[in-house]
Amino acid sequence: KVRVRFAPSPTGPLHLGGVRTALYDYLFAKNQGGDFVLRIEDTDTARYVEGAEEYIMKALEWCGIIPDESPIHGGKYGPYRQSERRDIYDKYTAEILKTDYAYIAFDTTEELEKVRAEYEAKGEVFSYNNFTRNSMRNSLTLSEQETQELINQNVPYVVRFKMPIDRIVNLEDIIRGKSSVNTNTLDDKVLVKNDGMPTYHFANIIDDHEMEITHVIRGEEWLPSMPLHVLLYEAMGWTAPEFAHLSLILKPEGKGKLSKRDGAKFGFPVFPMNFYDEATGETYKGYKEEGYLPEAFVNFLALLGWSPSDDKEILSLEEMAAEFDLHKVHKAGARFSKEKADWFNHQYLQKQSNEKLLESFKNLEETKHINLSDETLLKIIGLMKERATFVKDIYTQGKFFFEAPSSYDEKAVKKAWNEETASIMTELSEKLNTTEFKSEILKEEIHHLVEEKGLGFGKVMMPLRLALVGELKGPDVPDLLEILGKEESLTRLKLAIE
Ligand code: GLU
Repeated sequence: KVRVRFAPSPTGPLHLGGVRTALYDYLFAKNQGGDFVLRIEDTDTARYVEGAEEYIMKALEWCGIIPDESPIHGGKYGPYRQSERRDIYDKYTAEILKTDYAYIAFDTTEELEKVRAEYEAKGEVFSYNNFTRNSMRNSLTLSEQETQELINQNVPYVVRFKMPIDRIVNLEDIIRGKSSVNTNTLDDKVLVKNDGMPTYHFANIIDDHEMEITHVIRGEEWLPSMPLHVLLYEAMGWTAPEFAHLSLILKPEGKGKLSKRDGAKFGFPVFPMNFYDEATGETYKGYKEEGYLPEAFVNFLALLGWSPSDDKEILSLEEMAAEFDLHKVHKAGARFSKEKADWFNHQYLQKQSNEKLLESFKNLEETKHINLSDETLLKIIGLMKERATFVKDIYTQGKFFFEAPSSYDEKAVKKAWNEETASIMTELSEKLNTTEFKSEILKEEIHHLVEEKGLGFGKVMMPLRLALVGELKGPDVPDLLEILGKEESLTRLKLAIE
């Protein structure tokens, strides 16, 4: 059975790229009828950020990416937090030390720093590897007895991977194809730190094996770790999962990785939900709070790097899962576009019922003061939604429904109002006073007046609109009149005439 995991480290909020990884993990698992597992990789206590784990889980939930197994959903491969899996790691630490793929290293921080400085003085960079390990203080250079004595004396040590000498490692990535690397270019990574906790690399492959993960789908930044991971599986005598490394999400201008700073810089969100960064005192914007619908966000994100075979754009999570194919994931980075995100939101907003939109509309902070009936609000929503990207646009673009214009647009006045307008409007006003305020009836009455007077249509409609809205835009005037009602409409007209 296909099993895919998303394995974030709780070092901060989930950025757009992380959510997309989770989404592709999920879509692939569901496409294959498999399981989607959420594992929290929290072995690096120094980088742990309070609240990040909760944020990750809530963000995924908002997106509708629901794990089959996770710290909260449970599952038979748990625990799903690495910090709770110490005994499992201890067992495998002992195991790998029995092979020829690992050794114990006693070099202290000071010793390592000294060597590094010596290399630097020569204009070189020190790397703990095939060529240098024989001159360092470790179980390969010390005798077995010396090593044991140091351990008995509780001298701190780390466990390092013993990179094989001059070997070609062949790699295969579902998205990137085949490549190979010579082990002489790789270093002896630390597998277990001196506090006994495994590093990312070791914990990661142990858990992927223990949790029977079949496909590792993750960000491109982990591609350089792939040879080490493949060799670790070999060292443990395990079969490696298949790998797929996803390309970056690029800045709108197309160069460089989209960063969390870009959000603040350009004013668009790069996180699913707001995140307050205690370190900087900054709040990073979230899609949720900015008014994006989760379905639109997820749809937009899925197409940043993948397209279904028929190039369809609007797809539900289920439809995407049905069509998802790792082989169709783009090798090149996907350029982020706020316009595209907005386009998706607009599309999904149109699909929502007016009743649903009414509910969201009433929940907005800025609409709290409005006390129009639901019936009237539904009419307004019906008229305004077509132009709205966000629910809040219905308010901002339809402000004239809720407040009389406080001033008139100068250009519009010039265009719509002349010496004869006041008398035409007065006459219109008298006529409207005896008219039932229903859009069709109003339309007819205005037409009559236009014909009777032999006036151009614009001579009546433009000043009327100006009086009601304050500028020359908005929905059809008869609709506007009906919604505003007789009293409000005539008051606004009177105000304009004066
Ligand atoms: N904990 C790693 C991260 O935060 C997981 C990388 C992987 O998927 O192997 O991205």
